[in-house]
Amino acid sequence: MSALYNGGAYGAVAIDQEDQGPKVTVRKVGSDKVDFVLQSCSLGFANAVRRAVIAEIPTVAIDLVDINTNSSVLPDEFLAHRLGLIPLHSRGVADNLNYTRNCEYCDDHCDRCSVTLRLRAKCTDEHNILKVFASHLTRVDDRADSIGQPVIRDPNGEGPLILKLRHNQEIDFTCIAKKGLAKEHAKWAPTAAVGFEYDPLNKLKHTSYWFEKDPIEEWPVDKVNAEWEDADEQADVANNPDAQPSAFFFDLEGVGVLEPDEIVEGGVKALQLKLTEILQSLNPGQDGVNGMNGVDAGDDYEPMDQQPYDAGGYGGYGATGGYGAYQSGY
Ligand SMILES: [Zn+2]
Repeated sequence: MSALYNGGAYGAVAIDQEDQGPKVTVRKVGSDKVDFVLQSCSLGFANAVRRAVIAEIPTVAIDLVDINTNSSVLPDEFLAHRLGLIPLHSRGVADNLNYTRNCEYCDDHCDRCSVTLRLRAKCTDEHNILKVFASHLTRVDDRADSIGQPVIRDPNGEGPLILKLRHNQEIDFTCIAKKGLAKEHAKWAPTAAVGFEYDPLNKLKHTSYWFEKDPIEEWPVDKVNAEWEDADEQADVANNPDAQPSAFFFDLEGVGVLEPDEIVEGGVKALQLKLTEILQSLNPGQDGVNGMNGVDAGDDYEPMDQQPYDAGGYGGYGATGGYGAYQSGY
């Protein structure tokens, strides 16, 4: 049970000084993971936070690939798909990069709504193959921040392997990375996994366990979470059909494009933006809601048919992989 988390700049999950509003307790935090408990809120709110951190936080990923040369053994579309999935640093994307669909400075893409990366490699060694890594992607603009730089974590500083070239094989790609959301395509997901649990002892009976012989043995209880809950508070839920869960246990793992604290703050901010939009729709004449003046509610997701997705005029490949499935399945 470590220090309370103050909810960052947004304050929606502020320290619960007067037993009012949601309370967040961070139990464990690492470079990519955070384990926290959310209390004093409804199941619906906790689940909204879960969904927001999975799919509502803007990040940057390669979206268009202009293939100038490709004499490798891999087809263009395959490489475009691989490039789309390479994690790119996304700190500050929410505030410092426009969505191309909302960008007022361009029709296709520009420095305010995209980051350009170049990938050029040729194998000149007759006897050895050349491995091309994400670290070979070079940003070709003069941004001062790290947005769009490949995330390199391995000890050799190489990043994910993209392809291998044999003698005289060559590639020359120009990649346009854009801001997007995971609900458009999974390549923009900031999280790899979000564990979510409440009522670890299943006293509320919200869950019916499927089992072969023994549900207790086949569904092990998370002891840390089970001990966290106040046994007395939950003791009589069997006799109270209106009993509510008292704590929600999150175990969030990022993919490296954002720090865990940015992911949680980003999720809360995404929820705030949505609520602001609803309130502003209900009161169209009102500027700002509940002290949230200046929130750019327009900087959010728009339906698929309004997006310049896979812009054909650019002549590049949509680095989306399976975009057909995305369109039909959305
Ligand atoms: Zn633009």
